[in-house]
Amino acid sequence: MPVDFSLGEAERELVGLCRDFAQKEIAVRAPAAWDEARCPTDLLREMGELGLLGMLVPEEWGGIGMSTVGFVAAMEQIGLADQSVAAAWQAHVTIGSLPLYLFGDDDQRERWLRPLAEGRALGAFGLTEPDAGSDARGITTRAEPRDDGWLINGRKAFISNAGTDMSFGVTLLARVGSLDDGPPRYASFVVEAGTPGYTMGPKLRGIGWRGLDTRELFFDDVWVPAEHLVGDADMGLSQFLRTLEVGRISIAALSLSLTQAVLDLATEYARQRVQFGQPISKFQAVQFKLADMATELEAARWLTYRAASLRDAGQPFHKEAAMAKLKARRLAAWAASEAVQIHGGLGYMLDTPVARFYCDAKVLEIGEGTNEIQHLVIARALGC
Ligand SMILES: Cc1cc2nc3c(=O)[nH]c(=O)nc-3n(C[C@H](O)[C@H](O)[C@H](O)COP(=O)(O)OP(=O)(O)OC[C@H]3O[C@@H](n4cnc5c(N)ncnc54)[C@H](O)[C@@H]3O)c2cc1C
Repeated sequence: MPVDFSLGEAERELVGLCRDFAQKEIAVRAPAAWDEARCPTDLLREMGELGLLGMLVPEEWGGIGMSTVGFVAAMEQIGLADQSVAAAWQAHVTIGSLPLYLFGDDDQRERWLRPLAEGRALGAFGLTEPDAGSDARGITTRAEPRDDGWLINGRKAFISNAGTDMSFGVTLLARVGSLDDGPPRYASFVVEAGTPGYTMGPKLRGIGWRGLDTRELFFDDVWVPAEHLVGDADMGLSQFLRTLEVGRISIAALSLSLTQAVLDLATEYARQRVQFGQPISKFQAVQFKLADMATELEAARWLTYRAASLRDAGQPFHKEAAMAKLKARRLAAWAASEAVQIHGGLGYMLDTPVARFYCDAKVLEIGEGTNEIQHLVIARALGC
């Protein structure tokens, strides 16, 4: 079947806008935020003014209604400039906003989704807990019906975008009722920043993505009114898992951008660095690394755009998104390591962009479902 991933006019315009902003603003300002381990919300606000925070939300709800293919192409530009900004942005656009768009009612969309899509607030997705990561069904945060609303108790681990000065709160997953109530039921709720009983720990310090704000969240007798329940009280888990399918394409795209960045840096460096009387790019051992990176990048790109185009066509993309994510993120981690190798000792120094990309690469193999979990998803789709 012939496959056409060519971009339409709207997508091409978006790519140009993102390329300009990434080169003129993000590439210049984000490294300082990485060094200071500070979330650059100034940049995210400016991206919001350009419409980039409502990427996958229709205009009706304050977004720009971009195709998934367009989002991937935009990510290739943003992630090339800085991975922390790209990580915060993609988490907001996909898992931070989509539960409200896909499963919220119109009142919830008006109240919480519109500010997210218009770029006035940042969205967060609360699934992981200290004792439940890959095993999402194992969460113990619980919500009990109380006084025309819900009483929420528990904690969440590693939640991104919930603790910045533009965070609106979090959409979280909880078990409904007590833990002794029989087969678990799950529901998702909005908890707004400032709700009594909702607190959080300090920003966590990661190996990479140092500009991303990731924290532990605590819920001690947090009461929310009934209208904070998103979707059906039994459908929370499937809502969260469906949202993560789009997140897979997004992490694949982020991985493409990192691979392109380190390929560009390593090629440039190899052409300039002279050893044994010639540029190291003339040595086959270096050339083969670069040729492999470029070839594998093209293969990962095809998988990612294929998954995105399936979503745009309204077709199932579950398996394809997992394949794209697995391929692209393993490539990014390998390519970042080889790019540092090509830079020699200089590539080990944190002042070089290649070293920062190397630090940022590892988490791509963990976040929003590890490599091993992608293997499981693909194997299940094969009927195993
Ligand atoms: C920087 C960062 C940001 C994050 N942001 C968010 C966020 O915004 N919202 C959110 O909800 N979560 C977030 N997470 C959490 C992330 O999704 C989890 O870390 C991830 O899903 C893995 O869960 P875990 O860390 O508990 O590892 P575990 O599930 O404990 O896994 C540990 C190891 O065991 C392996 N393993 C587990 N089960 C199996 C199995 N069945 N078969 C084979 N191997 C298995 C895993 O692959 C892994 O290698 C973030 C994490 C990081 C690091």
